[in-house]
Amino acid sequence: MPLYDYACACGTRFELLVSSWSSPAPDCPTCGAQTARRPPAPAIHSSGSSAPPPAMSSAPQSWEGVHRGDREYVTRWRRTLDARQEFEARHPEHAEHRDAVAAHEGVFERRPLTYKELAARAATSKDATKAAVEAGKERTTTPAATTG
Ligand SMILES: [Zn+2]
Repeated sequence: MPLYDYACACGTRFELLVSSWSSPAPDCPTCGAQTARRPPAPAIHSSGSSAPPPAMSSAPQSWEGVHRGDREYVTRWRRTLDARQEFEARHPEHAEHRDAVAAHEGVFERRPLTYKELAARAATSKDATKAAVEAGKERTTTPAATTG
C-alpha cells in the first residue's frame, strides 16, 4: 500500500495509506473539500516518527521524477529509502514484493512482468522477446487471480 501526501485548498496537509496509486483522493478531514495528491516530497523519518517512511515503490522512477538529478532531492530520497529499508527490516509485514520489473505497461499494468519471470520463460523458449509476448497473451486470456 503506497503512502501518499494530500493537500487541500484550505491548507490542510496529511498523509494516507491507500490501496493503490489510482485510489481517489480523500475528502479533507478539516473542511470536507476534495483534496489533491501532492508529489512525493520525502522527509527524513527519524526513529521517533509515527508515520512509516514512504514505500520503495513511491520513489521516483524517472529522470524527471528526481528533478533531473537534483542532488539534494536525490539525497533526501536515498535517506528516505534507507529509513524505509530499516523500517521493513523491523516490520517485515510491510515489505513489498520487489523483483525488478521488465514491463509494466499494457497487459502488464496490473501485474508487472518481472525479470525473474521473464528469465524463466526465456530459458524455455530461448527468446526473451517472444517469451514476453507469450506472457502478455496469457494475461489477456486469463484475467483471473488478481492478488491486489
Ligand atoms: Zn480543507
